[in-house]
Amino acid sequence: MDILNPATGAVIETVVADTETSIREKLAAAHTAQVAWAQTALETRVSIIARFRALLDEQADALAATQTAETGKPITQARNEILATGPRIDFFLQNIAEAMQPVPAATAAETGGTEEQVTYEPLGVVVNISAWNYPWFVGTNVYVPALLTGSAVLYKPSENSTLTGLHMARLMAEAGLPEGLFTPIVGGGEVGAALLDAPVDAVFFTGSHGTGVKVARAAASQLAHLQLELGGKDPLYVCDDVDVAAVAASAADGAFYNAGQSCCAVERIYVHQAIYDAFVEAFTAEVKGFVVGEPTEEGTYLGPLARGAQIPVLTGQVEDAVSKGARLCVEGGAADRPGHWFNPVVLADVNHTMDIMVEESFGPVIGIQKVTDDAEAVELMNDTRYGLTAAVFTPDRERAEGLLRTIKAGSVYWNCCDRVSPRMPWTGRGDSGVGSTLGLEGIRTFLVPRSWHLRAPA
Ligand code: NDP
Repeated sequence: MDILNPATGAVIETVVADTETSIREKLAAAHTAQVAWAQTALETRVSIIARFRALLDEQADALAATQTAETGKPITQARNEILATGPRIDFFLQNIAEAMQPVPAATAAETGGTEEQVTYEPLGVVVNISAWNYPWFVGTNVYVPALLTGSAVLYKPSENSTLTGLHMARLMAEAGLPEGLFTPIVGGGEVGAALLDAPVDAVFFTGSHGTGVKVARAAASQLAHLQLELGGKDPLYVCDDVDVAAVAASAADGAFYNAGQSCCAVERIYVHQAIYDAFVEAFTAEVKGFVVGEPTEEGTYLGPLARGAQIPVLTGQVEDAVSKGARLCVEGGAADRPGHWFNPVVLADVNHTMDIMVEESFGPVIGIQKVTDDAEAVELMNDTRYGLTAAVFTPDRERAEGLLRTIKAGSVYWNCCDRVSPRMPWTGRGDSGVGSTLGLEGIRTFLVPRSWHLRAPA
């Protein structure tokens, strides 16, 4: 399989993809290794993952260079992701022991003779099919708690972040993880589909809604534990009482960081009519100031898209909006050069008849819609099948919390956006997915309970 550089279209490296046979061999090795791993002392598992976390920091520059080469993520953003992965791992390291503690349910005296207790065990062999946009974040959210709790992981990186996935496996080995416990499965979507034909205990998927539905069907056929982290169409509402310039800067970063290729990127903006014109002007100026260029350069804010296939999708959304009356404030679009280049686009005067306000864009395009009041903003924010995140900007906390309480979303933001915390569950409503990673729930999801009924002889 050829690994391409999206900034140039050139082949960086060619790797050998997995086959049905190699998947079966790797799966068998994972099953064997997992049995011993589950019996290994928790302190040993913790110390290996702590070593992996330290290696990430030590090798951050080289790892960032690989990520930039294969995904086009600007080098500063790639390095930031890698360096911010350590503190996420720390949360798991600090909380794993408590999450695995047995929980007494009743004493023998309370039940008339039978002591009751719940213990927690690993899922077994976990398949993790992952996305390329934040490979370190979305990968470690799954495989770190899986390994800490005693499972083995078959990790399929996206074909757009394969080399990063191979680095993850190398670092795990360098950290002392025994063979068979973290195994990369290399290949495209067809390899992912073949992986799901194999008998596994759990499937954790991060990716698009369309693929997620296929993954869910495959997991259902073997009753594997299933978790899906899917897309979003995340809204941001700007009330009439804000500092317009500051909010425009924050919203523009939320929409365009990583070229808008974030699951929680701001995908649509609603602005109160009282400040609409001023906001559109400030937002447009902000986006025009972004540095678009070579992803390897430190000053670059926007590089190429990771996937060329997204360019016709984005072009179609922009053309659809303009044909229905949208105003082009920043006229970017596909650039005529090798690689997957798409310059930022800002559209104002949009509405929900336009694809750009209802379909996931996952790229550097945004629509801004005027609303008459808070009630209209809430109605439009909830007019979606998705429910990952939502943001409200206003100095008035009570107003913001009142609005956010009525919005269908797993994470809600007051005066911030595009933010993830390791301490709280990352979870979606509707088409944004099933289950949670991160937070204590993100550890417990890798554990299965065993109920003990213990009666001493009379
Ligand atoms: P895709 O759905 O295209 O791919 C996700 C993964 O599934 C890849 O590893 C892909 O392999 C693999 N795959 C493709 N087809 C199949 C199949 N039939 N069976 C099994 N596996 C398959 O998503 P992207 O990688 O393009 O990621 C972008 C999407 O992910 C966006 O919708 C984004 O919102 C979402 N996302 C959600 C997050 C969240 O936390 N909610 C976080 C990050 C992203 P390959 O790439 O090799 O084709």
